[in-house]
Amino acid sequence: MSRERQAVERARKAFLTGRSKPLDYRIGQLKSLQRFVVERQKDISDALKKDLNKSKLGTPLYETLGLEGEILLAVNKLAEWAAPRPVEKNLLTLSDQVFIQPEPLGVVLIIGAWNYPWAVTIQPLIGAIAAGNAAVVKPSEVSAHTSKVMEELLPLYLDKEMYPVVTGGVPETQELLKQRFDHIFYTGNSTVGKLVMEAASRHLTPVTLELGGKSPCYIDKDCDITIACRRITWGKYTNCGQTCIAPDYILSPTVLRDVKPDAKVMQEEIFGPLLPIITVSGVDDAIRFINEREKPLALYVFSQDNKTSSGGVLANDCLVHFSVSALPFGGVGNSGMGSYHGKFGFDQLSHLRGCLIKKLGMEGVNQMRYPPHTAKKLDWARFFILKQVDVARVGRMAMLALLAVIAAVVLQVRIKKNNRALHANCVQ
Ligand code: NAD
Repeated sequence: MSRERQAVERARKAFLTGRSKPLDYRIGQLKSLQRFVVERQKDISDALKKDLNKSKLGTPLYETLGLEGEILLAVNKLAEWAAPRPVEKNLLTLSDQVFIQPEPLGVVLIIGAWNYPWAVTIQPLIGAIAAGNAAVVKPSEVSAHTSKVMEELLPLYLDKEMYPVVTGGVPETQELLKQRFDHIFYTGNSTVGKLVMEAASRHLTPVTLELGGKSPCYIDKDCDITIACRRITWGKYTNCGQTCIAPDYILSPTVLRDVKPDAKVMQEEIFGPLLPIITVSGVDDAIRFINEREKPLALYVFSQDNKTSSGGVLANDCLVHFSVSALPFGGVGNSGMGSYHGKFGFDQLSHLRGCLIKKLGMEGVNQMRYPPHTAKKLDWARFFILKQVDVARVGRMAMLALLAVIAAVVLQVRIKKNNRALHANCVQ
């Protein structure tokens, strides 16, 4: 049996013990992950230095501080996120308990990319742990030193059966993709994203695809060009332009350099320190240009207007929407599907189970659904299904009283009918 298959089977076995379900366990694991990030900061930044030549201060700034924030949030909010979520009832379910119960999905596969190897690999893991899942973590082989640190050190902190780290390249990832998972969370380019989705479809496994693309940046002539240039330059050249949400090209009434829309640089994500600038005649021309292309991961607008589609939109700045846990982070169309960060990560890796708990009483109200179907019953059904009543405003007790009256009337009609039938039988 392959190493990859063994890891998945071990994780499934651990999940089936049920130990990842109690909130205490999840919080314990999240706190251990937090300890790992703090205690192993040097191992993390040394690996990043070797992999990507990232600076010592850049490591907390762009990789681990965000993780710590997400862990703290999950620890503090977990009880709230995991609690049953009551939903609005209709007339038919007024006396029932109707709620959404987040449940763990099972075993999640997390496939990370190399450009922010800690942020994009561990952040989905936080969501997976918080949601009560097991997770197989597959860091990118391109950031090999980081991958090794994860493989060697994470098991010292986390439940190693529940959260195994599998290292390797394309063959190992493909072997993993042959296995059955309950969710696959992939970060990387769109070409591999399609392969991941294809593999997932064999088991009808849902996927989250965090992809990239060409994030446009529109500068209107009314904006403060000095500030816009400073913020765009920071957004573009952070991590050497290798950021999934880096502004990819600029649409500017100010002509700096003309780039033809069909130039090669405008066909694929650049993912490097090049910033083409395209001249447009105004906002409508810019919108048309953006909408003619694949849906990007982010859209930057240094102006007031927004009539386009993208994973996220940010006005008058770059990248910082990634840092807001209260916003869903994710793509649309060619830039991906699904979202995460904060509660969105928890929900993404949970099964949001719809629950309705009925009592055995109030059977009168149910008469309308049992055969024989009559015009009268259809009238009652129409009333119950189509009547929009603001239950909160009318008051629950008043509505229950109304229901009881309706149930009694329906029941009485039924009893009278039965009695008549009985009487007729006796006379015969
Ligand atoms: P990568 O080369 O590290 O690949 C990502 C993962 O895919 C790796 O774990 C790798 O093993 C696996 N993989 C590669 N080829 C495969 C194949 N043929 N079959 C199965 N698995 C395979 O990363 P990358 O794709 O070069 O990453 C850069 C891209 O990721 C850019 O497009 C960037 O925009 C995007 N990205 C997106 C986000 C986001 O949050 N949306 C974050 C970071 C990067």
